[in-house]
Amino acid sequence: MNKTETKSAVLLRHHLKALKLPTILAECEKTAARCAAENVDHLGFLLQLCELELLERERKAAARRLKAAHFPALKTVDEFHFAAQPSVNKMLISELLRCAYLEHRENVLFIGNPGTGKTHLATALAMSACALGKRVRFFRVTELVTTLLEAREEHQLARLRSRLTKLDLLVLDELGYVPTSKLGAELLFDVVSTAYERTSVIVTTNLPFEQWTEVLGNERLTGALLDRLTHRCHIIETKGESYRLQDAKRRRPKTGTPSAPTAQAPPL
Ligand code: ADP
Ligand code: MG
Repeated sequence: MNKTETKSAVLLRHHLKALKLPTILAECEKTAARCAAENVDHLGFLLQLCELELLERERKAAARRLKAAHFPALKTVDEFHFAAQPSVNKMLISELLRCAYLEHRENVLFIGNPGTGKTHLATALAMSACALGKRVRFFRVTELVTTLLEAREEHQLARLRSRLTKLDLLVLDELGYVPTSKLGAELLFDVVSTAYERTSVIVTTNLPFEQWTEVLGNERLTGALLDRLTHRCHIIETKGESYRLQDAKRRRPKTGTPSAPTAQAPPL
């Protein structure tokens, strides 16, 4: 490398850093050599570098969105065994994966017994939204209520609410496992009310609608909450027994012994 080349290489590295183009910086020499060998013209070379930079930016942004969503486990629809859950309409799930419901601010409600795939499907839909560039946050309802109560204590409630209003999709997992305190129920209601017609919400619950009052503790509040959630809502029932239980039964040897696995109902 002669003196001028060294100088321009140093300057180029500096400019690419200043312009915040790390992928072009990392790839420019390799790409230049390849383009020279393949007789790609200057504009073609520039195009290839810009494409690499854009792809890497998109990959990083997608990873950030996925992290910010706080999924408890990453689950996709490809891993979902529809034959084991015939009550779930596969066509509807495929349509929801395309995320048009987010544009219409529609909600999705999964209702069914524990272990029937509600969280799995809710996560798969929310991950698909993330992949399409949407801002998503997944909460177990108990976790959200605790976060809201803590934020209130620390006079940070307005800040938290404002963060929640910036989302495209809010997932409320396991509504109804633990009875909520009066204040907790009010704060939860406030989140759902604010989201109404502004942010789509996916809810999973093992509770039939009649039992929501028991958990939220207030008939009027529950009515209003249900009214908002179920207006413009896709309701998906996951019927039947737990997938883990079905799986355990499938794995159980035909000549079963008393030590064969038995299912335990998760706490309600
Ligand atoms: P729920 O939220 O209804 O209690 P989960 O979605 O947590 O149930 O499912 C329990 C476990 O079983 C998870 O590991 C999930 O991935 C798996 N699972 C449930 N249903 C299916 C299915 N139809 N195909 C594949 N895995 C399933
Ligand atoms: Mg669940």
